[in-house]
Amino acid sequence: MNNDIIVVNCPTCGADVEWNAQSKFRPFCSKRCQLIDLGEWADEEKFIPSDAQINDSEDWSEDQR
Ligand SMILES: [Zn+2]
Repeated sequence: MNNDIIVVNCPTCGADVEWNAQSKFRPFCSKRCQLIDLGEWADEEKFIPSDAQINDSEDWSEDQR
């Protein structure tokens, strides 16, 4: 028996999201909420945890060919 389920709230709609492998879009409840949040982020100042993506885009293309 293991009841250590972590539940977070979707930043977009506030729904409960279980933090596990099934929640592909965590902390969002769905892809839709994720996209909505990204859209808002362009307008508002909003923290978004995407450091990895920013680092990746800097220097991966040069060594490709
Ligand atoms: Zn949501």
